[in-house]
Amino acid sequence: MTELPPPTLRLRIDSDALTHNWQTLDELSGGARAGAAVKANCYGLGVDRCLPILRDAGCRDFFVAHWSEVPAVLRHVPADQVSVLHGPHGADHVSFARATGVRPVIDSLQQAKLWTEGGGGACDLMVDTGINRLGVAPADLSAPLIQALEVDVLMSHLACADEDSAMNARQLDRFRACLPAVKHKEASLANSAGIALGENYAFNLTRPGLALYGGTPRAELDGRIAQVAFPQAALIQTRELQAGDTVGYNATFTAPRAMRTGVVSLGYADGILRSWGGGHFVHADRKLPILGKVSMDMIVLDLTEAPELAEGDWVELPYCLSDAAQQTLLSQYELLTVLGRRFG
Ligand SMILES: *Cc1c(COP(=O)(O)O)cnc(C)c1O
Repeated sequence: MTELPPPTLRLRIDSDALTHNWQTLDELSGGARAGAAVKANCYGLGVDRCLPILRDAGCRDFFVAHWSEVPAVLRHVPADQVSVLHGPHGADHVSFARATGVRPVIDSLQQAKLWTEGGGGACDLMVDTGINRLGVAPADLSAPLIQALEVDVLMSHLACADEDSAMNARQLDRFRACLPAVKHKEASLANSAGIALGENYAFNLTRPGLALYGGTPRAELDGRIAQVAFPQAALIQTRELQAGDTVGYNATFTAPRAMRTGVVSLGYADGILRSWGGGHFVHADRKLPILGKVSMDMIVLDLTEAPELAEGDWVELPYCLSDAAQQTLLSQYELLTVLGRRFG
């Protein structure tokens, strides 16, 4: 087949940074080991790129949300290291779990029944300690349907770990109180922000996601977590504007003087949403302001600070997640998971 020409946008993944972040979170987990939330295609960064790096760093526990996410993960790690957070919603999910060997996370009495009736086996169990999303109520842990389960990891999920909220200690106490109620091999409570709350929250296994990929949900992680994802795009055209010329849809930018501009080949279809308006790209530390509205596939930049740039040159969008979240008013999670599929 004819070879595909290289793309004009790319998502550079810093594999050393990803390794560093997992090791840092593993160390911060104290006596516990860190796993990895790899749902949503490793938060948008790509299972095929990120999973081998996490595995080679030493990670042995991987969490996806959907059953559809299992095959991609099994290309890289053994099934007994994979848990499916949303659990089984029908006999087909149960037979899929049993055929592949991945563990369902049981989130309700109904799911416990489905799993056991389908033949059961090792599973994880989510108990709700206050987020009221998924999970069995603490009072239901004594139910025969739950007592019949073969639980590897008994887990719960924190609602407010990125804040200094009384909710954190409350959930910790409730989770501790659940531990004697059901036989389990290991316990797990903390996500990325939960790890930063201290070793009390770590139990046997932690489940970081965001911070692996460069996010800093709490100030304690600032300076310890490295940026992993670097969106870059090539200039596909340059242009000389005269004073009074306008740029882009709805002509929202008017050139105050003659100026040189460049078009980069990425836009909101790639997850660079319109809330980036007023921001800038960079080239070797020089700022290239975004002019006018972000289009679906293109963004126009002011090249005043880098007059030598020409078609084919690459520029980068600053994607330090805490700064980018302030700039765009998106959450750090959204900034990662919106990134589109056209990046090379
Ligand atoms: C997504 C998720 C995580 C990871 O959370 P982060 O805040 O990204 O670290 C951990 N546990 C559960 C149950 C999740 O759904």
